[in-house]
Amino acid sequence: MSNLRIGVVGAGMIGRSHIERINNRLHSGAVVAVSDVNLENAKLVASEFNLKVFENGEDLIADSNIDAVIITSWDPSHEQYVLAGLKAKKYIFCEKPLSDKAVGAKRIVETEIAGGEKLVQVGYMRRYDKSYIQLKEILSSGKLGEPLMLHCAHRNANVPDMYTTEMAIENTAVHELDVLRWLLNEEYVSAQVLLPKKNRNAHAKLHDPQILLLETESGIRIDLEIFVANNFGYDIKTEVCCENGIVNLPTPATPYIKFDYNESVAIPADWKVRFTDAYDKELQEWIISSKAGRVDGPNSWDGYLASKNAELCSLARESGEIVKMSVEAKPLFYK
Ligand code: NAP
Repeated sequence: MSNLRIGVVGAGMIGRSHIERINNRLHSGAVVAVSDVNLENAKLVASEFNLKVFENGEDLIADSNIDAVIITSWDPSHEQYVLAGLKAKKYIFCEKPLSDKAVGAKRIVETEIAGGEKLVQVGYMRRYDKSYIQLKEILSSGKLGEPLMLHCAHRNANVPDMYTTEMAIENTAVHELDVLRWLLNEEYVSAQVLLPKKNRNAHAKLHDPQILLLETESGIRIDLEIFVANNFGYDIKTEVCCENGIVNLPTPATPYIKFDYNESVAIPADWKVRFTDAYDKELQEWIISSKAGRVDGPNSWDGYLASKNAELCSLARESGEIVKMSVEAKPLFYK
């Protein structure tokens, strides 16, 4: 069977990285076209990978030589391109978040249901990470008993100047908001945000760190530290305390070095290094499921819940209150 012909909208950091992995390392699909509001970015990436350039993302999506679309443009533009993909009845892989607004993600869910065909997958790649999969298997086995508490951390070395206090939840912690409900198989019922002493390494528009406190349907308590200007590296932690034992998210092994009277282990510089295998697996499976006419990964409903929950967490930070999160019934379409 021929390759899935893929068009990419958004030729920035992760867009280029997805094109590189698909065209150099994955099979059964090839990126053949690219578009970006920044035409220079699009031309640069197109010349590197021999792609057709479209000046307009919607034209790329509608083109009859494109079978499926990857959206890696900036958050506020995701909704317009996903809706264009649904209109063209193409398989769509949209980087997280599905939309920067819950109402936008809800519009996508409603449009997809009205179209009668599941077409959208959202880029919550932690569900494809070997260490999260191992953690889920251990919890699902039941041998540790019921999970009671989770202690989590999402730490980055630094973030760009355009990164704001809101983005710490809506662009960063949104990964945990997705993966923890997948891990526990439960929805959240309340959120609170604490703002510790401000880190002097963070710029003026960013309150760093933040602590997110979540409660799930069965009463599991989660604390999540979001610390994005830590000056030392990318560090993802999840410790699950259960009735009979405790399990920690394994960290991918890096060489343990003894040298010059010191012992050391490298810390990944960023998400590209830590989750590279997960991105490969996620996109390889997306190509295969799209060719088979299915969506197997996180879908629009998952994307909607992540965006909605992130918005409620932002509300909790702004108000300083505990915010209740109502559990919505999953539409039959997504079951
Ligand atoms: P980036 O380097 O800034 O790239 C985004 C690109 O999209 C830029 O070339 C930008 O142009 C372009 N763009 C902006 N608005 C557009 C529009 N309306 N139509 C078409 N192109 C547009 O950002 P990035 O780090 O690659 O992130 C891109 C997306 O991927 C974000 O939504 C982010 O949340 C997501 N992401 C996900 C992960 C993950 O772990 N799953 C990791 C990183 C990023 P300009 O340069 O002119 O703005």
